[in-house]
Amino acid sequence: MKIAMMARNPNLYSHKRLKEAAEQRGHTLDIINTLRCTMTIASRKPHIYYNGEKLVGYDAVIPRIGASITFYGLAVLRQFEMAGVYPLNESVAIGRSRDKLRSTQILAREGIGLPVTTFAHDPKQTEEVLKLAGGAPLVIKLLEGTQGLGVVLADTDRSAKSVIEAFRASNTNILVQEFIKEAGGTDIRALVVGGKVVAAMMRTGADGEFRSNLHRGGTAKTLKLSPEERSTAIRSAKAMGLNVCGVDMLRANHGPVVMEVNSSPGLEGVEKATGIDIAGKIIELLEKKAPKGGTKTKGTG
Ligand code: ADP
Ligand code: MG
Repeated sequence: MKIAMMARNPNLYSHKRLKEAAEQRGHTLDIINTLRCTMTIASRKPHIYYNGEKLVGYDAVIPRIGASITFYGLAVLRQFEMAGVYPLNESVAIGRSRDKLRSTQILAREGIGLPVTTFAHDPKQTEEVLKLAGGAPLVIKLLEGTQGLGVVLADTDRSAKSVIEAFRASNTNILVQEFIKEAGGTDIRALVVGGKVVAAMMRTGADGEFRSNLHRGGTAKTLKLSPEERSTAIRSAKAMGLNVCGVDMLRANHGPVVMEVNSSPGLEGVEKATGIDIAGKIIELLEKKAPKGGTKTKGTG
């Protein structure tokens, strides 16, 4: 197969591993800097140009679109889809996963366990939002944050109110969530590839930190999921329409609750913690799926 990988930094662990895994299995993989792609859109002729040349002949595309370039990245991915190139994850599904409010709604519709989550546009409704979320302690999140950066824990109603008002005053969209205290600064990431959990790890935040993100100094170790956690991860991936994703869950008293579904999960933490060749499993999935083609949306979703 000839595979394109949309990625800006060829030296990132995940990107190097995917290239290595593709080549080991006899494929070629070209890393394409998403922001250097130029698109021409004419009736039935969707083309992408890269460094002055037209990109042609790809069987599959692996989108690794950074959160800061979602808008342009998804447009380039749709262009590949329209040209009949099989995407590891479809543009529509990635779009869903990038919006925490939208993904929470999709998961809720499927009956998947979630922390109580509230959302309001009007800052006048702050008191109501606090009440509906169950009062402090509360977690306040930017709708498009990543790596734990837009996530705040407010210990009292008063601090929650100030944080919400500050975000709202700067016109930032947020959601307010019940704090799952019993998770104890630990969360679970399940890597789903092609409808199966291929690896799982438990991440624990640095001392005194409730956020367990590895980017925030968290540490990871391998973990065996309970059957309920496994099925929650698989159902979440399916509801979002993602072939490959990282499903982040918290262990609440009443069972697993999903915080987010990440469509470009980092491979370094999970491969090192579990010793599993996830990059290889991703390429294997493309080998199975790409020849059949047939994305659901072909860029039109
Ligand atoms: P990001 O997309 O920035 O990673 P998350 O929603 O995954 O944001 O939150 C970051 C981390 O904060 C999680 O991995 C988890 O450890 C902690 N966290 C998030 N939401 C909650 C919550 N409702 N209760 C307890 N801890 C939470
Ligand atoms: Mg997260």
